[in-house]
Parts: sequence; C-alpha cells; structure tokens
Amino acid sequence: MRNSNLSVNKSEQPVARQAVLPIYSVTPFTMLDFPGKTACIVWFTGCNMRCPYCHNPQIVKGKGRGDVMQVITFLEKRQGLLDGVVLSGGEATSYATLPDFIETIKSLGYAIKLDTNGLRPDTLDELLREKLLDYVALDYKAPPEKFKRVTGTDKFKDFEKTLNLLCTQTLVPFEVRTTVHTDLINETDVQTIINDLVAREFKGTYALQNFRHDNNRPTLGLLKPQKRPLDLSNIKTKYLNIELRNF
Ligand code: SF4
Repeated sequence: MRNSNLSVNKSEQPVARQAVLPIYSVTPFTMLDFPGKTACIVWFTGCNMRCPYCHNPQIVKGKGRGDVMQVITFLEKRQGLLDGVVLSGGEATSYATLPDFIETIKSLGYAIKLDTNGLRPDTLDELLREKLLDYVALDYKAPPEKFKRVTGTDKFKDFEKTLNLLCTQTLVPFEVRTTVHTDLINETDVQTIINDLVAREFKGTYALQNFRHDNNRPTLGLLKPQKRPLDLSNIKTKYLNIELRNF
C-alpha cells in the first residue's frame, strides 16, 4: 500500500485532505468510453500538448472548478451502480496527486481507465507498479517527424517510453488511438505507426479516429474541415486489429 495523501477517516470513508486536482467536470454516465463497463468520466483541466484538432480547448486552457471531495461524494453515491471511472481531459497524468486520487477511487470498488497522451512515462510507470489501472487508452499522435506539428511538443521520446512501458507489460489491457486530420498526417504516417505497433508485437485494438468538423465547436487550432479523407485502401496490416471510428 502506498503512502496516500488521501486518507480514510474513522468511519472508513475516504477523505481528501491534501489532494489538489484541477477537475473541470464529471460526466455522470457513459457506456461508450470504458470497454465492457458502465462508467463516469472525470475531466482534468490542463494539457502538456497543443493538438490543433483538440475539441476541448476550454478544458485544455481552463482552470479546474471541481472539488475533489464532491467527486468522491458523487462516487460514493454511485457505488454499485457504475463499474468504472474514466480519467480524461486535458491530461490527468500531469498531476502529482493523481495516484492518491486513484487509490481512493479504487478503494470504493471502481475500475480505472486512463486516457493519456503518454508524455508522463514516470507517472504511468508508478500507476502500473501500484496496480492502480485497469485499462489505458494511449494516443499515438504522429510519427517522430510529425510529432511536433501535431502536438506542439518535441517530446516523442517521452511518448515512446510510455508506449514501451505498456507494450512490455501484460497485466493491464490497453488500446492505442490516432486521430486523423489529413492536413496533419497522411497514409504514410498511419502506416508508419502501424508498422511500429506491429514491430512491438502490440496485440490490442488500434483505433483510427476520423476528425469530425463541427462549426459549433471550434478546435484548439481552429482547424478547418479536412480537404480529403484518409485513403484507407492503402493501409495494410494483417497483424493488428484496427477499429475505424467516425469514418
Ligand atoms: S487532444 Fe491534444 S491538446 Fe487536447 S487534451 Fe488531448 S492531448 Fe491535450
């Protein structure tokens, strides 16, 4: 058991005393975001990337309004009604008290799914070692030569460490996801990612997510609609389970 900042009071109810987490909001129910489970989603503000296609600029640039205790109280009320909690954002691994928060949630009986961009391999390593995760969705944004253009950072090596960590463990199932906007990445880039995953003997789902333009939801980089769709006929692999989303 780790030394948690979230403690348990005399009546054994978890109490958050020191956790400072910028929680933006909670989506109370989803059947789509945690494979095989009913769940809620906790959204964290702030992100260490700046993807032009991001549909959540208010979360990425916003300040957390949520109260950790309110979230825990909500989860206590949903015990037995929901299976899991999805940690999304923004980037939840940016925060040092995340492991404490997860430990408290898990003590309430919830499974944990983490959505991550992979730039904090040390945090992910701690969460894996402490057995605090039940499922991970990792964004593989772009191959190294396009990484900065797509994410606004040049930290591909940090992402790669996270990918290595996940590919060299077998306890926690994980999926890998790439969002496609053909102004940013093309068929060659997607094939490069697929080849990399195959070389790592990745056995989970690889999700290709087609960018959907929405006039009512300007993206972080104010991206225009794609001029052309990705040509899926040129994407080749017999070793990977590819799931197409929004194509
Ligand atoms: S899409 Fe990019 S900028 Fe938006 S939350 Fe995800 S990693 Fe951060």
